Amino acid sequence: MKRIYDVIIVGCGVAGCFAALHLPESADILMITKAELEESDSFLAQGGICVLHDAADYDSFFEDTMRAGHYENRKESVDIMIRSSRNVIDQLIDYGVDFARENGELLYTREGAHSRNRILYHEDITGKEITSTLLARVQEKPNVTMMTQTEMVDILEKDNQCDGVILHMADGRLEPVFAQDVIWACGGIGGIYEHSTNFPHLTGDALAISLKHGIEVEHMDYVQIHPTTLYTCRPGRSFLISESVRGEGAVLYNKQGERFVDELLPRDVVTEAIHRQMAKDHMPYVRLSFLTIKDMDIRERFPNIYERCLEEGYDITKETIPVVPAQHYFMGGVWVDRDSRTSMTHLYAAGETSCNGVHGANRLASNSLLESLVFAERAARHIQTHSLKGRNQLRAAMDVSKIQTYYNIDMNEYENPEMYHLRCKENIWEEIRREAGNESNNNQIKCG
Ligand SMILES: Cc1cc2nc3c(=O)[nH]c(=O)nc-3n(C[C@H](O)[C@H](O)[C@H](O)COP(=O)(O)OP(=O)(O)OC[C@H]3O[C@@H](n4cnc5c(N)ncnc54)[C@H](O)[C@@H]3O)c2cc1C
Repeated sequence: MKRIYDVIIVGCGVAGCFAALHLPESADILMITKAELEESDSFLAQGGICVLHDAADYDSFFEDTMRAGHYENRKESVDIMIRSSRNVIDQLIDYGVDFARENGELLYTREGAHSRNRILYHEDITGKEITSTLLARVQEKPNVTMMTQTEMVDILEKDNQCDGVILHMADGRLEPVFAQDVIWACGGIGGIYEHSTNFPHLTGDALAISLKHGIEVEHMDYVQIHPTTLYTCRPGRSFLISESVRGEGAVLYNKQGERFVDELLPRDVVTEAIHRQMAKDHMPYVRLSFLTIKDMDIRERFPNIYERCLEEGYDITKETIPVVPAQHYFMGGVWVDRDSRTSMTHLYAAGETSCNGVHGANRLASNSLLESLVFAERAARHIQTHSLKGRNQLRAAMDVSKIQTYYNIDMNEYENPEMYHLRCKENIWEEIRREAGNESNNNQIKCG
């Protein structure tokens, strides 16, 4: 395998793909994913993607994002995201993304804590529509090499400068690979939770590596619990019931069949109300009704949710379903600046792995696809203007034993994947608890 690229992108979700599409065609790019290409959280996004509806919407979009984030958001990042949103959507449409329309005009839906309709969608599989389109465009690029089942286990670092990554290849080999710049687009941390809507292989690897190398991280305890996932005792990923169903009129009921919360409050507030109600009712779930949704064919608007609930034995057009909160999103992450630069030279981070402060203490629904795209593009543009062609050429030519000595690497550390992953997970939990200052803050949700 080649030992050196211009840019290595770790992750093939929306952040990774958009970064690749905004790097020049002259750049030799390696993109890796530790799973298959379709196995990223980007594929799972149901509800939609926010956009500044019109110029008059700016103050309201800004305020909704800040209020949901408990005013802990970085204002500069929120401003950048909102002002870039229409351009990003125009690009997506140019790439071939098909958003819902009526008579040729884009349709806008609404989710919790939004004071107006400003979310574009494609049925209830918006993430799949966007990500599969972006992946197809990336795959057309002759300068991008994609490798699946290939895991970054560490970086090549010297004096707070990132020179590349160490890869665990599909055949079990460990390979150091150099680059001028590295972009982390590794997604969230749901995989370290017992109950999460995320893919289980998303285990915050970039965070574990950051903690090891002293790369700055931020808000490690800012974890969003989604109020409504389908309650089941079956093992595996929790199935999300998108907030857009409540945006369209679905309501929550307690054991007595009474409403107990305004369903359109921010996620953390609704989650807390559900937890309180579950404790009061001595029940492991509350119920969600689609029957209150008016003037809409539920099967047509939410085909994916309809099918999945049917598989579990519930017909959402006829009956309520049991729902329970589960880990969903990570607002914290690897600290980055407005150009998605981490605290380590030549290392960038974008998407859910990073923390640029857009979401503050709690993410506003449908802001994350947008934020991932906006700040992935910024990383790519920064690299384009600051890249040092030929950097690391000499080091990449060294034999592996010399590379190990130079970077003080002990390959034995990664030989046993199970032990390695367990150690990473423990380190992340330790940091989450330390920041939360609360040993019991692990948000484990018990089944049954
Ligand atoms: C069920 C669900 C519904 C959602 N709905 C919405 C929505 O409606 N609107 C919205 O805005 N957001 C939504 N989100 C959130 C949004 O989907 C994610 O925040 C966003 O897609 C993250 O994109 P990303 O590119 O940062 O990461 P991901 O799409 O998760 O991609 C991460 C990539 O990194 C790879 N990777 C990770 N670690 C390594 C490693 N060590 N080595 C190699 N590869 C690695 C993974 O294999 C994967 O390819 C939802 C999330 C979920 C789970």
